Amino acid sequence: TEFSAPQLDELLLENIKLARFTKPTPVQKYSVPIVENGRDLMACAQTGSGKTGGFLFPVLSESFKTGPSKTPEQGRNFYSKKGYPTALILAPTRELATQIFDEAKKFTYRSWVRPCVVYGGAPIGNQMREVDHGCDLLVATPGRLTDLIDRGKISLANIRYLVLDEADRMLDMGFEPQIRQIVEGSDMPQVGDRQTLMFSATFPVDIQQLARDFLNDYIFLSV
Ligand code: AMP
Repeated sequence: TEFSAPQLDELLLENIKLARFTKPTPVQKYSVPIVENGRDLMACAQTGSGKTGGFLFPVLSESFKTGPSKTPEQGRNFYSKKGYPTALILAPTRELATQIFDEAKKFTYRSWVRPCVVYGGAPIGNQMREVDHGCDLLVATPGRLTDLIDRGKISLANIRYLVLDEADRMLDMGFEPQIRQIVEGSDMPQVGDRQTLMFSATFPVDIQQLARDFLNDYIFLSV
């Protein structure tokens, strides 16, 4: 098998070609049709499996096809300097967030989707300015995102896709309260009104509980 249309958007296929990816990895092969069918996904996949493409490819392909959201929420605030991302990717560390952002930059080339990355341990001012320039796909660590929401810089009201990457590591690092605040205590659309993809290397009870709370009738994929 190869990456191909009509399953994936033509512009995305061009960007995948520019990145010299010729063949999907197993997680990419299976995640694309699941997400394109509108299903939530719980994927057990290790680093190195190509899991980043596993969520970026279907999310970007669908986003390219759908175009920017024109919800009343965004319409009202179109000229405000506030980010209304349509896709949010939560990651445990600055390193992982940066890696995902770098991949996102490659695969959004020449598209309407502008990726942004925010993480703790770096000045927030620069990140706020980046968000002000437009933020359609946001890659974030949970603590810094909470801070930006509290400062009124980010609204999650337009989220269509929520991805939790390395969910087990985020819980190990103690991020569960922040994650629950972001997913359950913000203006983000509820379960069923968004599509949620969880990636984790392991599937212990606390991740199973998070999957029950955050996912709607999900498909379980183990690669
Ligand atoms: P990941 O598991 O997403 O961190 O990816 C591991 C490495 O494999 C990264 O350097 C990716 O750029 C690369 N990679 C992911 N998918 C593919 C693919 N389909 N073809 C070639 N390289 C890939």
